[in-house]
Amino acid sequence: MAQGIPDEVMMNTALVKELADVAKDAALLQGVLMRIQESPNSSELVTYAPFTLFPSPVPKAAFLQALAVQTHYNTLVDKISQDSDFLQEALASTIEVDDFTARLFRIHQQILKEGRTQTIMLGLNRSDYMLDQTSSLKQIEINTFAASFGGLSSRTPDVHRHVLKVAGRLEESRRILDNNPAAGLAGAVAKAWELYGSERAVVMFLVEENQRNIFDQRYIESELWKRNISTIRKRFDAVCKTGSLDQDKRLFVDGHEVAVVYFRNGYMPQNYTSEQTWDARLLMERSLAVKCPDISTHLAGTKKVQQVLARPGVLEKFFPGQPEAVEQIRATFAGLYTLDMGPEGDKTVAMALASPDRFVLKPQREGGGNNIYGAEICQVLEEVKGSEERMAYILMDKIQPTPLHNYLLRQDGPLQISNCLSELGVFGAYVRQGKDMVMNECVGHLLRTKSSEHSDGGVAAGVAVLDNPLLV
Ligand code: ADP
Ligand code: MG
Repeated sequence: MAQGIPDEVMMNTALVKELADVAKDAALLQGVLMRIQESPNSSELVTYAPFTLFPSPVPKAAFLQALAVQTHYNTLVDKISQDSDFLQEALASTIEVDDFTARLFRIHQQILKEGRTQTIMLGLNRSDYMLDQTSSLKQIEINTFAASFGGLSSRTPDVHRHVLKVAGRLEESRRILDNNPAAGLAGAVAKAWELYGSERAVVMFLVEENQRNIFDQRYIESELWKRNISTIRKRFDAVCKTGSLDQDKRLFVDGHEVAVVYFRNGYMPQNYTSEQTWDARLLMERSLAVKCPDISTHLAGTKKVQQVLARPGVLEKFFPGQPEAVEQIRATFAGLYTLDMGPEGDKTVAMALASPDRFVLKPQREGGGNNIYGAEICQVLEEVKGSEERMAYILMDKIQPTPLHNYLLRQDGPLQISNCLSELGVFGAYVRQGKDMVMNECVGHLLRTKSSEHSDGGVAAGVAVLDNPLLV
């Protein structure tokens, strides 16, 4: 059976030191880049995006299973986004107590009331998984908004291939998989742009204030320019100041007609710094531009929806007559539990308080660092268990993968071996026009690895680093 990187390499201190230098240069050569923390809005000084020295072993069966289920997940997200009754019911308790979700929901309702202007839908999502002790694939969450690292992960395979060759591990080097989510994601954006049907219209990346991770997005922009599609990068601020709709609801920003709005910002409450920012979101939602994602697809990606999907019989409603699709999706679900008021929610509270280490408590937030673990679960639940405030959370089984050794390379970080956990992401892209799915694809993968000391946090949060799977 195929193996991971042997200890004779992993534990050879002199070799590891040499390889780390080689690896950093290879990452810079390949363009696995980030701006430095001190100057996130200038490319004068850049560094390599943090990554592992070696690829991490991933069981082949679980990897293929994750790829195979992706188009079903795309379909599921899309169907949820079109089912306003389902969204209303699923989120009813959450929006009573979670202001941010409530605000998004109000935009959703307003759009429904006014009638959706655009029937072209572009979905770029990433379904994330961990493997439990039995190597069984368990979904952590699906990201329907600003799923990142499709760009940089298109460049990391060559870095690990090179490192392994220098280490004398040609066989392992050959086993590093090709990966090009940037091309696949851009392909779907290009399709949506084409269906919008105006040569002069642009793709607008709605970007963050802090643009440290700009290169990840530049890969997708570059793929679009290759196809002679113009892209612009704008912040909420620019949309507030210069955004408008014409009488046909075509969106104009800074003088450009916008065919596609690709949101890379707007998923956190902090992104909405003023009422004008919310107005700008509403303006874009109302417009004829294709939104990636639109407001209903944004809501379909909430953790509450994920929990409701795990209830008996719910998936079946979305896939009538398709028991295989239901089975494939459900096989990836971890235990998910409601904290709504009532006996079922009471049971969840009791279960979590009795063994907090078995669970993760999740609010409706994205971007890493928001979940609650261990003793803190008890603190929070003791406080909210008697009130409706608890409905802002869901409870989830904690996936506990077997830790593996690796070296995490980050700017100015020490070179030391760590116990690591990996999270596999799979990119999905789809385009729908009216009732026709014109594209539905799995377009690549992402492996992120972090030290097992950290329960939470992604690459952008400074916890996880980029990696590649070495199938075993
Ligand atoms: P976010 O939207 O903030 O990315 P996630 O649900 O993806 O929220 O959780 C963030 C991180 O927390 C994940 O990347 C993972 O490392 C960890 N995590 C989340 N859920 C679980 C779980 N059920 N078991 C183990 N770790 C988890
Ligand atoms: Mg996540």
